[in-house]
Amino acid sequence: MQFTDLNLSAALLKAIADKGYTTPSPIQLQAIPAVLGGRDLMAAAQTGTGKTAGFTLPLLQLLTDGAKVQPNQVRALILTPTRELAAQVAESVAVYGKYLPLKSAVVFGGVKINPQMMALRRGVDILVATPGRLLDLYQQNAVRFTQLEVLVLDEADRMLDMGFINDIKKVLALLPKKRQNLLFSATFSDDIRKLAKGLVNDPLEVSVSPANTTAERVEQVIYPVDKNRKAALVTKLINDNKWQQVLIFTKTKHMANKLSLHLENAGIKAAPIHGNKSQNARTKALADFKAGAVRALVATDIAARGLDIDQLPQVVNFELPNVAEDYVHRIGRTGRAGAAGHAVSLVCADETKELAGIERLIKQTLTRQVLAGFEPVNVLPESKLNTKPYKPKKPKMARPEHRDGQRPSQQRSAAKPSR
Ligand code: AMP
Repeated sequence: MQFTDLNLSAALLKAIADKGYTTPSPIQLQAIPAVLGGRDLMAAAQTGTGKTAGFTLPLLQLLTDGAKVQPNQVRALILTPTRELAAQVAESVAVYGKYLPLKSAVVFGGVKINPQMMALRRGVDILVATPGRLLDLYQQNAVRFTQLEVLVLDEADRMLDMGFINDIKKVLALLPKKRQNLLFSATFSDDIRKLAKGLVNDPLEVSVSPANTTAERVEQVIYPVDKNRKAALVTKLINDNKWQQVLIFTKTKHMANKLSLHLENAGIKAAPIHGNKSQNARTKALADFKAGAVRALVATDIAARGLDIDQLPQVVNFELPNVAEDYVHRIGRTGRAGAAGHAVSLVCADETKELAGIERLIKQTLTRQVLAGFEPVNVLPESKLNTKPYKPKKPKMARPEHRDGQRPSQQRSAAKPSR
């Protein structure tokens, strides 16, 4: 099956051909005809499956016909959990829609609201938004939903994890009852099903899994090392292996800053990326990293999710995450699209519990390597694989660090003017 078999317009096929894509991915094969046919959709699909084009392409086609958008109105709304994801989705809308006369805009928190109000003045066919900022814009009369035809919730599970449920409910209450709904989520937990119940109408349910499991695609190694020797070890690994582009994860913003500084002092161009950084600083750090001006991007989990960096050759866990699933998210950053990936974790004796949780989740013990000169004084006990099924931790309502620079709605009353 080719894209040309999917009843997409010539303008869309041309944009797809410009990107060099010929064959639709499984999620695209299922989602595109369903959305074009006007059906609601519930799709279990992770990043990397081609889900963005799966909803963007049919959405663009549907909107090509129909009424002209009126001032401050929106015809399709795409909600995302983070500003990074919002920016990426908006980029896809622009790329696939480049031969169509449709208007689109993207709004998220952490940057000035005025330019966003201006962008919405004449109305837009497609608006990509994070929930908090969208509500602020609504309260300021900058956006109206009378003309809304389609709602897309992207990465709905992450939105719930981040405590956006109340904001989502508030947005849903503002939308016309008659509309098409597309719900994308990596997993369908009970909470997502509960949300879906009041949202989608006789949906087509689609589920796709990434091509390979992480463990098959990524070569994983741990270095047992003392905590106070980690910075020296990562510096040595970068230098000895001549890693040119490495994403390093830390548990805290403070450690991201500290390690970044340490690497800079050791002559390795580095930049921290976390929730306390302004949007401009994050965008610049990512652009510099992609361009090769920064060799090491030092990130916290939340800031790193949604970063659009494909096929990273090397990921380093400077500290293991508390939540084992985050380990899988982290190492999923390397070895995309069939390329072999490498993930290295520096593990000190204090992290024995976290390591056991990870090994239980991925159902394997990780290969250990000790580098001469870095033998730990505080010994990391040998792993004993716990074969009982891994029980996920309950997601917290509000994470300590919000990727979107937004707080959950219950704390939003004292919103800063910059939002
Ligand atoms: P996504 O899952 O939407 O984040 O997409 C993952 C990556 O796959 C993005 O870099 C897309 O540009 C790319 N992609 C999407 N659809 C296709 C396709 N049909 N063929 C090849 N690459 C694709």
